[in-house]
Amino acid sequence: MTAPADTTWTVPATDAAPLESIRFQGLQAGPKLLVLGAVHGNESCGPKAIARVVDDCRAGRLLIARGEVTFVPVTNPKAYRQNTREGDRNLNRDLRERLQPLDNEDRIGRRLCALLREHEVLLDVHSFRGEGEPFVFFGPQDNTGPLEPFRHGAAELALAACLGVPVAIHGWLDNYVQIIAARERLNLPPLAVTEGFGTTEFMRFAGGYGVTLECGQHDDPASVEIGDTAIRNTLAHLGLIDAPAPAPALASVIQMTEVVICEAQGDRVAEGWKTGDRVPAGALLATATAKPGEPICHFGVASSRRPL
Ligand SMILES: [Zn+2]
Repeated sequence: MTAPADTTWTVPATDAAPLESIRFQGLQAGPKLLVLGAVHGNESCGPKAIARVVDDCRAGRLLIARGEVTFVPVTNPKAYRQNTREGDRNLNRDLRERLQPLDNEDRIGRRLCALLREHEVLLDVHSFRGEGEPFVFFGPQDNTGPLEPFRHGAAELALAACLGVPVAIHGWLDNYVQIIAARERLNLPPLAVTEGFGTTEFMRFAGGYGVTLECGQHDDPASVEIGDTAIRNTLAHLGLIDAPAPAPALASVIQMTEVVICEAQGDRVAEGWKTGDRVPAGALLATATAKPGEPICHFGVASSRRPL
């Protein structure tokens, strides 16, 4: 017997589609969790994993006992409908509340930022194009600096460690500052540091914490399993459901230290590298085809940060 096909969410065939959310409020007090899928429209593992978990919550197979969980299965309906990463632009960049929204992502951003403010913890479920192990991005250590002041470093790393994926990476916004400097050297239009702000950065700005889970390759059924497990582990870790604490699976923590910028059209990284591979000077974290001024790949080193 083959497993039943995953439910996929349908969205209205209009660019003015509202955001749909499903919320379960436990009868006892506890943390408020937000789970996002399809911030990038062609990453279907989030919506599919969320569909499974929502089914189980509705059927009582998963009982939300305390706190709240809100699921947004399709965070970018226009991009999802098109099966593209973006609607008009990348929703996971320059995310903020705009008084005068100009495009699809501006309009979603206003609602999304309001939702983020209503919650304390974020799990944002993504997938990637290339090959490689699933991994999770988390944020800075506690600090009062100008770039990303934060006071939930330990809780956020503990969340990253509970998801069931082997690799956790930090240092995104520090890397973004390097991208901005490189663009200046190349005489390209300047980028504001807010350009590096996505869902997790806004969540930290709003006083909570959150992680970005990269489940694996787009359309790989294994990515849905990773997302499904990560959501259930998060519910258990935060105590929203009564379940044993998830077994720790984190094998390596990597700090992004350096970014390689595309200087001319056609620059690209050699074939064959994938996220988390060891290279002589550190670890190569990501590859992409890029335009001038965009990052080609990120290097990192073994981080000293460990979950408590
Ligand atoms: Zn994504």
